[in-house]
Amino acid sequence: AKSEGRNTARFFDDRLKEEVRLRWRLGRDLDGAIDRGEMRLLFQPIADAHTLATTGYEALLRWSHPELGEIAPDVFVPLAEASGDIAAIGRWVADSAMAHIARVDPSLSIALNLSPIQFREPALAGYLLATARRHGIAPERLEFEVTESATLLGRNSEAVLATLRELQARGARVVMDDFGTGYSSLGNLREFRFDKLKVDRSFVMSMADHAPSASIVRSVIALGRSLGIPVVAEGVETEAQLAMLRQWACDEVQGYLIGRPAPLPLAHVVAA
Ligand code: C2E
Ligand code: CA
Ligand code: CA
Ligand code: CA
Repeated sequence: AKSEGRNTARFFDDRLKEEVRLRWRLGRDLDGAIDRGEMRLLFQPIADAHTLATTGYEALLRWSHPELGEIAPDVFVPLAEASGDIAAIGRWVADSAMAHIARVDPSLSIALNLSPIQFREPALAGYLLATARRHGIAPERLEFEVTESATLLGRNSEAVLATLRELQARGARVVMDDFGTGYSSLGNLREFRFDKLKVDRSFVMSMADHAPSASIVRSVIALGRSLGIPVVAEGVETEAQLAMLRQWACDEVQGYLIGRPAPLPLAHVVAA
């Protein structure tokens, strides 16, 4: 049993080393991935919860590694944040997403995820707004999703808040993403006027068979209503989940039931 334990320990040790090596390699290969054309964007519809009409799309980043295949953003975004590559990647995402959305029905909005690291760039708001202008997109069509990580109330919170306020002042909306999973959700809500709350998919996905999750989702919807800001639920996969969300008057829904992340559908593309 003792040698078995030792073998297990060595197995995990080897696995860990392999994992570290893989991450190191991915981190290295991220540099230049855009120039090599390995990054692309998919767009997932966000819909009115009642009519299921598409109101906009969230841009989601994909990296196709030439040897290792598809790498999930949950894996490479943190690496890009650690290396600083997220700054250039984030600019490419904004430019590319806006170029795409410029070709669709102008009533549709585009939601972009902003990494906390991007806020270190003082010109972030200026860059995003200038990019929108260059593509002929009204700022009112832009939504910026920020996670309720330490950023907002953390060390450089003033810089973050100034950037978000600048975007809002120009008509863009700021969405609190993954609501409920952070450490200071309510504190963030007190410090900053968000335009929308996005309930984290972990709550939505367990709603039907986990009563506390259902209570949390219902309460977040009520909280949004009492603050006067719309609530969007992500990770909606079943009719049962949609029915619950509608019953509680959730404003918008996003998830595999409505549509998977995909290239922009041509049906919405305006004829040139
Ligand atoms: P997120 O912002 O919470 O994005 C939603 C994630 O949920 C996406 O995963 C989406 O594909 C997935 N999803 C949507 N509907 C469903 C559903 O019904 N069921 C399930 N199981 N999943 C669903 P994805 O595309 O893998 O992205 C993961 C995370 O990576 C995102 O989480 C976001 O934090 C980050 N990310 C993606 N694109 C970008 C980007 O351009 N910039 C930055 N900074 N982060 C990004
Ligand atoms: Ca998001
Ligand atoms: Ca989310
Ligand atoms: Ca997330």
